[in-house]
Amino acid sequence: MHRGYNFRPRRRNRAGTLSTWHSEPYICVMADYPLSEDLSPNIGSFSNSYARLPAAFYAHAVPAKVTEPRLIKFNEALAAELGLTPPPQQRAAIFAGNLIPAGAEPLAMAYAGHQFGGFVPQLGDGRAILLGEMIDTHGQRRDIQLKGAGRTPFSRRGDGRAALGPVLREYLISEAMNALGIPTTRALAAVTTGEQILREEGLVPGAVFTRVAASHVRVGTFQYFAARGDVSSLRQLADYVINRHYPQAKNAKRPYFALLQMVAHAQAELIAHWLRVGFIHGVMNTDNMAIAGQTIDFGPCAFMDAYDPATVFSSIDYYGRYAYANQPRLANWNLARFAETILPLLDDNQEAAVALGTEVIEGFQARYAAFWLETARAKLGLFTAEDGDEALMNDLLDIMHKNQADFTLTFRHLNDDARSQFIDPTAFDHWAQGWRTRLNHETHTPEERSAKMQAVNPAFIPRNHRVEQALQAAVQHADFTLFDELLTVLANPYQDQPNFAHYTTPPEQSERVLHTFCGT
Ligand code: AMP
Ligand code: MG
Repeated sequence: MHRGYNFRPRRRNRAGTLSTWHSEPYICVMADYPLSEDLSPNIGSFSNSYARLPAAFYAHAVPAKVTEPRLIKFNEALAAELGLTPPPQQRAAIFAGNLIPAGAEPLAMAYAGHQFGGFVPQLGDGRAILLGEMIDTHGQRRDIQLKGAGRTPFSRRGDGRAALGPVLREYLISEAMNALGIPTTRALAAVTTGEQILREEGLVPGAVFTRVAASHVRVGTFQYFAARGDVSSLRQLADYVINRHYPQAKNAKRPYFALLQMVAHAQAELIAHWLRVGFIHGVMNTDNMAIAGQTIDFGPCAFMDAYDPATVFSSIDYYGRYAYANQPRLANWNLARFAETILPLLDDNQEAAVALGTEVIEGFQARYAAFWLETARAKLGLFTAEDGDEALMNDLLDIMHKNQADFTLTFRHLNDDARSQFIDPTAFDHWAQGWRTRLNHETHTPEERSAKMQAVNPAFIPRNHRVEQALQAAVQHADFTLFDELLTVLANPYQDQPNFAHYTTPPEQSERVLHTFCGT
């Protein structure tokens, strides 16, 4: 137990106000699962640093066997990057969880989390199982995780399974995010199980998704230990994260303060990327915020078509908590929850610790604003910085909103026919006059400017209606043609691909898909 901290829960959690801890018991039953006795294929060199952490960090969990695994997709390029060499005839079995690779030590991670603002002291991997880690060709340690591989001690009332639709959505969108140059978890494989699972809409095909992540440590992982007043585990977790993700923090005078700053930095940059491409995560709960700064947990996420800062897709986000333009504020809120968990590591004196934490939390908005301004300048083709640049961007967004202009097409075509996106094209003409005047302050050629803009303003995003069409064909007719095509197009989002021009356009009125579901 640490001295000087009280454990009274605070009712209100505002981003700028850090609460101290309250105490929760460890309520998880750490079942000792027997490991599979199957022949274990050697598909690469697994290491398992997380399994070396104390028992409270995880529960052993063995993937449940499925009846008829069928490989839908395998990411050869990513496998090569990982040094992963599963024989083609065993891939379906391995990525369904029927065959455990040699060296893997399957486990479910413990974590807690604020879900839509309400704290749940125990969540944990209820339908995900970490097989282990691999060191990739760049020397980076990466997690290999099966999602939908069966129940774990954290499953509560869930079936531990995943449905094909959400598995394909995560595959598609995480790979699209990567191609867009945005930090994200990756998709290694998708397998159907041959089993039907029960979801709100009835029986649907079951599937298993293999995810690769820098790690799966979340804000919620820290909250799990903080909620139990377990400072020793917290310190071990923080040290683990510093070693794995932020080794530079070790050299700082205050390593845990440096960790907090680095996490804030990574989040600010990540959210600026999301807003750059019109991405709406949809469930920015603290258990879905990865400490390493990658986009994680693609549930009801979607991309905005017409620009509206209040855009929400998720069917369970009733109050628009996670709306497009709220994301920076919510990242700050989540970061405040992270800062709270490490207060006892920041300083022995509680007041001093709160002051250090508050400094980072209050500084987040400025950090984010700096990333966003840099992003905005690039989107507008500006190489230099002038005071009016932010206002120039805001004015454009304002008329885009009023004119229901498509976010992606407007920026992609600022140099040519963006005006056709506007109900009142003269509103754009008027804005463009000011923009051209601003461009005249710069010496770069139109070609240089265009290249800069095309590198941050994608032509292709996973438009929600296209994603839904692809998923429907796959789920209802086991037809993966559209899914494959969409995946191919989205692999090069910044290149004009004239053969696929139809993927650039927003939905017709009748094609619009305004609601997305978690599908869990
Ligand atoms: P998510 O909405 O994916 O962030 O998940 C929130 C929590 O619910 C996590 O602890 C998940 O492991 C758990 N969960 C979601 N779906 C299932 C499921 N089908 N079976 C068991 N647990 C689940
Ligand atoms: Mg989650």
